[in-house]
Amino acid sequence: MVEPWIETNPHESVALVRREGRIVGSCCVECGQAAFPPVRVCRNCRASNLEERTFADHGNLYSYTVVHVSSARAVPYAVGYVDLADGLRVLGDLDISPDALACDTQVRLRNGPTGWAFHSSETNP
Ligand SMILES: [Zn+2]
Repeated sequence: MVEPWIETNPHESVALVRREGRIVGSCCVECGQAAFPPVRVCRNCRASNLEERTFADHGNLYSYTVVHVSSARAVPYAVGYVDLADGLRVLGDLDISPDALACDTQVRLRNGPTGWAFHSSETNP
């Protein structure tokens, strides 16, 4: 019998952070492909031999945008892609002033008043 393929939502952000602020995803034992949120089947080689993996809590801001219209939360707010120190790229909230946003900024994941978000580690070591 084939198990159903239950895929997590790839659009979920770092709200899924667990274990004291670390990002927990999966890593394919066969090819090494990392994923967050965790997946049950490797997107690269389709193997189902995956293990849980905890990723770095800091990295480099690859790209970002500032949202000015939302029916779900106060605006403006920023979201961005962060290249974690161990190679995984994740989408997450940015707790950085829109005026201070810049690509290649070093960021660190922290729990703040609005929940888990990446903060600039260059201005707040
Ligand atoms: Zn794989």
